[in-house]
Amino acid sequence: MSDTFDVVIIGAGPGGYNCAIRCGQLGLKTAIIEKEPTLGGTCLNVGCIPSKALLHASEYYSAAARDFASMGIEVSGLKLNLEQMLAQKSDAVKGLTDGVAFLMKKNKVEVFKGAGRIAGPGKVVVSGAAGETTLQTRNIVIATGSVPTSLPGIQIDEERVVSSTGALSLKQVPKKLILIGAGVIGLELGSVWRRLGAEVVVLEYLDRILPGADGEIAKQAQRVFAKQGLEFKLGVKVTGVEKLKSKLKVSYEPAAGGEAQALDADVVLVAVGRRPYTDGLGLETVGINPDKRGMIANDHFRTSADGVWVVGDVTAGPMLAHKAEDEGVACAELIAGKAGHVDYGIIPGVVYTRPEIAWVGKTEEELKAEGVAYQVGRFPFTANSRARTNHDTDGFVKILAGASTDRVLGAHLMGVGVGEMIAEICVAMEFGASSEDIARTCHPHPTLTEAIRQAAMGVEGWTMQM
Ligand code: FAD
Ligand code: NAD
Repeated sequence: MSDTFDVVIIGAGPGGYNCAIRCGQLGLKTAIIEKEPTLGGTCLNVGCIPSKALLHASEYYSAAARDFASMGIEVSGLKLNLEQMLAQKSDAVKGLTDGVAFLMKKNKVEVFKGAGRIAGPGKVVVSGAAGETTLQTRNIVIATGSVPTSLPGIQIDEERVVSSTGALSLKQVPKKLILIGAGVIGLELGSVWRRLGAEVVVLEYLDRILPGADGEIAKQAQRVFAKQGLEFKLGVKVTGVEKLKSKLKVSYEPAAGGEAQALDADVVLVAVGRRPYTDGLGLETVGINPDKRGMIANDHFRTSADGVWVVGDVTAGPMLAHKAEDEGVACAELIAGKAGHVDYGIIPGVVYTRPEIAWVGKTEEELKAEGVAYQVGRFPFTANSRARTNHDTDGFVKILAGASTDRVLGAHLMGVGVGEMIAEICVAMEFGASSEDIARTCHPHPTLTEAIRQAAMGVEGWTMQM
């Protein structure tokens, strides 16, 4: 069977499915191919959504044990039902992946289940349960995402030695969990299992956690996570994980060289990053050469091959769902002859721990390295009335603005709820706001957002509370 489309998208994660919806809205005849049984990609199936469902539920559990009594709520017989906690996570995933399938129908996008392979210009073969189908198309969009990486000599079995995927479905709380990597996945999933009772040790190669985040925030965050019971060993290189009968033996040594050491664990989570996924994609048939990590380069989502586009984790930039989504939409608009655009300077990052960490724009380290003169405004949540009524005072807001322009160049937040609050700064930056614009905007009282306003006031030294 042969069919002809305006656009064929390979991969139905946030990059692919948002591209498909926008193509459908713009009247393009569109197909999307997905090799997994459900749509939604890493984000909906084994990433953003299940991890947030577990973070939410595990925080309730730990708050019930930790905070309720001080607020006059007495709970007795508090008990974890892990099976139910995992089931509500799966419900959230199912609701959203079904939602994506509905959106494909609504926008007249034809869904093909199976592995997509480029078979030359304008030609994609789908290999699925029903055999092979060849699709003819004017445009191909590669949206095949990414997969977890491991370390040499460490075999992930998704039971005892797990990637994020296995760590989202452990059948029991490990007594001792070792995390390799203090990045976003390590801190989020480490928090989940710590809250549920695991002893958690984090082994990180660098001498800091959360590379890429503002250094001041990362330092404070490490202190808070340590108080929650996460044990950090920084500046260490893991050299192997040996699977013994009932335990795992994790060997490591100082990154700078030195004496080898070992720790026992019940489960090891390898969270040392992800790599672009292009296996079996037939890139050679259209002359695309990914780099040695598998990353496909792009120029406004165009690859080196005519009519072949690329979006999301498989191409350059941060591996984030909203970045993939924005690229998918902009790519569809460019294909339709419109002016699609992504502002890479204003892509927020959020770590959904407690407290959350959120940022957008430049870090202080980046501004210093670029020789940009800037001013800083800071405001701690200890001085914010809503944070105090909620007894959630860890963290602060930091706003960086150009020394002569006062234009907001970056914002770095740590605190409960900052993952929601960061969008205010994104909008402000998108409109080219100065810190004074934020400082002179009325914010509701008592809210956590007042900390943003106060930090903005702090840039010019007129913070009202302290
Ligand atoms: P993916 O979501 O990876 O989707 C690619 C799809 O393509 C997959 O479904 C795959 O099966 C399919 N595919 C691949 N090859 C083929 C082929 N040949 N044929 C057919 N189908 C194919 N990001 C955030 O912004 N916020 C978060 O809170 C967040 N949390 C995360 C938590 C975890 C545990 C993980 C692992 C990731 C998280 N991410 C988060 C990152 C986010 O999931 C990714 O950035 C996002 O999914 C990338 O979207 P994508 O469309 O590029 O790729
Ligand atoms: P990461 O890049 O965030 O962190 C990996 C960490 O592992 C780094 O700190 C790195 O220094 C460390 N590391 C690397 N090699 C090591 C070694 N040999 N020994 C010890 N430590 C080592 O990667 P991740 O946490 O695996 O996440 C992957 C991607 O998924 C990220 O790009 C992230 O953007 C995305 N993600 C996002 C969210 C979110 O937005 N909330 C959540 C989860 C994942």
